[in-house]
Amino acid sequence: MGSIPSNIEALRNALPSGVKLVAVSKTHSPEEIMTAYNCGQRIFGENRVQELALKFNQLPGDIKWHLIGHLQSNKVRQAVKMADMIESVDTLKLLEVINNESAQEGRMTDCLLQVHIASEETKSGFLPEELLSIDLISISAAMANVRICGLMGMATFTDNHDTVRSEFRSLKKLFDEIRGKYFQTSGIFTELSMGMSGDWQVAVEEGSTMIRVGTLIFGERIKR
Ligand SMILES: *Cc1c(COP(=O)(O)O)cnc(C)c1O
Repeated sequence: MGSIPSNIEALRNALPSGVKLVAVSKTHSPEEIMTAYNCGQRIFGENRVQELALKFNQLPGDIKWHLIGHLQSNKVRQAVKMADMIESVDTLKLLEVINNESAQEGRMTDCLLQVHIASEETKSGFLPEELLSIDLISISAAMANVRICGLMGMATFTDNHDTVRSEFRSLKKLFDEIRGKYFQTSGIFTELSMGMSGDWQVAVEEGSTMIRVGTLIFGERIKR
């Protein structure tokens, strides 16, 4: 494991241009985040609103914070004040709450719809067939304060790259299908967030536009 700057450098050199790097900083200190910031890293991912709030208040204002963890309705008001993007929208109800709270705040919140692609039951998200059956055009039109920017997914936690690859491939297929069906002319549905420390190369090969990497940058997280 190298230093934070050398880890970021290595990832940047390996990433095709156009693929964004979200540095997942959950459990890591503001000092470690500043080390990454000082290498030019600006997008950071957090999974808890409470932890994000602590960091948000003491770190530079030009950081783009992505919320990547399951979000409860009662935390949405706080979340929309801080997050540049909520990647973990897993129900239409939640999208609606985000829209309402964003309107209250006079904001537009970028969102990704999280899709359940893994075989683990514990991971949340829309089922692919569910997403294909909802009319995202009317939903986008009715919710003026959220932008549906794309999809996010997490592959099964396994060393079997064939499993991971086929899950990413089916997510990319779903992404293309939804874009073609609902967003052909709007140009907002452009992000496909997939790939973490263990599988980002496979994700990029399968069409990811945004990877979310924690361990490979900051080292192992201490369990809490
Ligand atoms: C923690 C987390 C990551 C980063 O995981 P690493 O394996 O440390 O890279 C990415 N995405 C989500 C949704 C996470 O919760």
